[in-house]
Amino acid sequence: MNTNGHGFITSSQFQQGVLLLKQPLLPVVKILQFLYLTGPFTNVSSLVEEFVEPIEIGNALYKNPTEMLRPFTSLLQNMERIKNPQEPAFHILDEDLRPLESLEAVELWIAHNLVTQELETINTLLCGPCHCTICCIGPDSSMSQLFFEIPLHESEISLFKIPAVSTEESKTHTSLLEPPLYHNNRPFYEAEPNLFHWQTGWSLILPKESSCPHLSESGACRIYTERPETCRRPQIFPYVLERNPDHDQEKEGKTIPAYIKRKKILAIWDCPYVRALKGEIATYAEMCELEPVFRENKN
Ligand code: SF4
Ligand code: SF4
Repeated sequence: MNTNGHGFITSSQFQQGVLLLKQPLLPVVKILQFLYLTGPFTNVSSLVEEFVEPIEIGNALYKNPTEMLRPFTSLLQNMERIKNPQEPAFHILDEDLRPLESLEAVELWIAHNLVTQELETINTLLCGPCHCTICCIGPDSSMSQLFFEIPLHESEISLFKIPAVSTEESKTHTSLLEPPLYHNNRPFYEAEPNLFHWQTGWSLILPKESSCPHLSESGACRIYTERPETCRRPQIFPYVLERNPDHDQEKEGKTIPAYIKRKKILAIWDCPYVRALKGEIATYAEMCELEPVFRENKN
């Protein structure tokens, strides 16, 4: 690992994150799936409980696979859809928008959700020791961007005691549409941080030289344990599937959500731990049979 003189690399929390990055769970899940599909097993949960022997894959040692897999049992039970077809819970298309066979669709569904949960833990362990606030502030004066945006779920709006703009006009706009939405007679990004309800959902807009209202002077998040989902999942992102509501299906009054196959992991180069762990992130993606994509966000 290239330490670049970063002190955070020696912290035990950071090392715990690196350890998880070096032993992704997905390769073990693939073995479990192979045994389930080729053996006489009728349910996945009992197979998970039999996975007690250590497994070595490449340089990774999984000392107790059952302990590691058990928290994901309900997700892994989606494998049972392959042996016993059920009502569809998701609709997955390839990049040419053709529906995937159920085996590949189930594999990708499990991979996306497993990697999402695993990366949330890893990102949290790696971010804390960096004492960095890049994700919580707007662009500085040297940057070309006019604002940064933090997407929010509707249920997260109440975390922020700042003006929330939800008008017919905002709901037919997106933050990137030209000309920009005007609010109080000026472009929406020329104000204090506000919440906006766009066509695509809610977001917190951080204008230039601003910071999130929950960022304390010491650089800590004041609502850390309740922080929004977007704040929990920087800066190594799962991109195994991409949600695409345009292809949702309606069946018996229920919406079956559509996704497009991408099979990638995105890592944002602005982040100090991404720069320090480039090799480890690439190996993580490779072990999960995903393509690592590194890119810069803020410039
Ligand atoms: S809610 Fe917390 S983690 Fe999210 S942007 Fe604000 S200060 Fe940062
Ligand atoms: S850029 Fe990385 S280290 Fe900095 S706050 Fe964001 S996730 Fe944490």
